[in-house]
Amino acid sequence: MVRKEALVTPETRPLLRRAHQIVNSGDGEYAFTDLRRTTLGGVQTRQFRLFTPVSRRRMRLPTSLPEFTELRHVANLSDSPVTVAAQLGGQWSDHNLAAITHVAACNFRCSYCYVDYAHLAGADHFVASADAVVAEFVALRVALRRTGRRLSLLRVSGGEPLLAPSLVLEIYQALAVRGLLDSVVLKVESNLSTLTYAWRRSGGHPGAGDSAAMRGIKLHTTLHHPPDSREWPAIRDGLALALEIGFDVFPAIGANDWTTTQFESLYSELVRISPGLPLRLAVRPFHLDYPALADRRRLPQPTPGEAPSVRWEGILRRRADVGYLAEPRHLIPLT
Ligand code: SF4
Repeated sequence: MVRKEALVTPETRPLLRRAHQIVNSGDGEYAFTDLRRTTLGGVQTRQFRLFTPVSRRRMRLPTSLPEFTELRHVANLSDSPVTVAAQLGGQWSDHNLAAITHVAACNFRCSYCYVDYAHLAGADHFVASADAVVAEFVALRVALRRTGRRLSLLRVSGGEPLLAPSLVLEIYQALAVRGLLDSVVLKVESNLSTLTYAWRRSGGHPGAGDSAAMRGIKLHTTLHHPPDSREWPAIRDGLALALEIGFDVFPAIGANDWTTTQFESLYSELVRISPGLPLRLAVRPFHLDYPALADRRRLPQPTPGEAPSVRWEGILRRRADVGYLAEPRHLIPLT
């Protein structure tokens, strides 16, 4: 059952209204950041940059796998290649390359966001249809294949992609039309706070075919605000709606500055939406060193014994009798 839309509305949050207008350009087109105008790494074209999800040097590891589990409290969980391998076959290391496109606006301004704030407000944007995005992805994939590299992960990031749920669905459908769903996985990164508003604006209810399509989309969401924040109701309602629509949801938090009460409350909120959600939660240390972060407030860095993931593991063991990342997240069902 979808909850009533939270108190976060375009009237109370001008950034939401503005960001929604920027990303939804009209006539089946959407606004993306021209990546050649950013300081982000791996830029290939204005539409795409390349990214290696699992990196031992950067301590981004699939720590739900037995060979990395000892590092689960010090490394950033990065498990997209594991999920892709589960869906497409092969080993995770066969799928350790993503092409990322960034929509041109977001309704939040997180202090640790690695995107320049100007690029969360439509600066340096261009417009393209979902079909054009997929055509560019295919061209990049072909070029990489000539050099012996395999590209099987298309990631839509931002900005906030779920300002335009229709973009995500249309990209998935364009992959399907090209017969690519057995060799490409679509991953979307979202803060989820915009979904109830944007979904309603885009028509409100998926058809049966749309819901089936959504189930093939991996939705990675960082819950940027704790349960006692004014942003939480919109995030919580977006999470519940995402599950109802059918997205395969992978939640995460940073939470370096969260209190124990906020952690306990998060567990209660997540388990109420779906018993599987707390077990899917990634607790990331957010050790980031992107240029855009150089002059922003630094988050407090806890000692290893006080790491948020250690505290979360304590809650999981006490309330669910299970360890943190006890098994790969895609194996945990969401009902
Ligand atoms: S929600 Fe994501 S894209 Fe938006 S400001 Fe926060 S980190 Fe950046």
